[in-house]
Amino acid sequence: MNPGARLIVLGKQGAGKGTQAIRLSRHYVVPHISTGDTFRAAVRSGSEFGQKAKVYLDAGDLVPDEIVVGVVSERLTHSDTMHRGFILDGFPRTVHQAESLEKILEPRPLDLVLNLEIDTEHVLSRLASRRVCSDCGANYSVTDNPPRVKGICDVCGGEVVQRDDDTESAIRRRLELYEQETAPLIAWYSDRGLLVTMDALGTPDEVTERLVSEVDRRKASAAG
Ligand code: ADP
Ligand code: ZN
Repeated sequence: MNPGARLIVLGKQGAGKGTQAIRLSRHYVVPHISTGDTFRAAVRSGSEFGQKAKVYLDAGDLVPDEIVVGVVSERLTHSDTMHRGFILDGFPRTVHQAESLEKILEPRPLDLVLNLEIDTEHVLSRLASRRVCSDCGANYSVTDNPPRVKGICDVCGGEVVQRDDDTESAIRRRLELYEQETAPLIAWYSDRGLLVTMDALGTPDEVTERLVSEVDRRKASAAG
């Protein structure tokens, strides 16, 4: 089996993309690239770029394609991703982004696109309990996966808060944009034979196990 992995984790907000992407990146020892985390870090830094990004994030709008593609293509030229691969989380989110990614990755294509499936009712309850570390970006859930000490990050000791963009209107806008812009990627990747759709419900461990066994199965059949 070839080392590393080149994977995309796709799914609606609240599907657990971020949590699963971090777990897969540990499992396969490849970098986790989250465009959402990148933009939130830029917002925290207060840079000019961050101030611009904040407007899109707070509204639940998509950051323009050329900005996102620029950020990702820069990251994908680093030697770690060139050699070992990557787990992309939150990117691509539009067909145009997927087309750009295809060009960036030539000549070595993706291994697989993991599509985490969840219905809107579960999305809304997960988002209501979603919390994030304001320093390192680690994800928590007050119901399913709280930090060991209330309000304090297990990883870095930072303050665990509700995301600025987890407001009712931003959530609604993200769901709308998911249907318009991101859902078409399911057919797009399916046409290319790269898509696997998996149930996003269950404990984080159960979902990770599902994803890893599917990736390993595909990698083994590709190698053999
Ligand atoms: P969620 O986990 O709620 O689906 P993310 O953390 O992936 O959201 O992204 C948060 C916000 O960052 C998005 O609402 C959007 O404003 C911006 N963003 C992240 N990735 C992209 C992308 N690939 N294209 C455009 N905007 C993006
Ligand atoms: Zn933290």
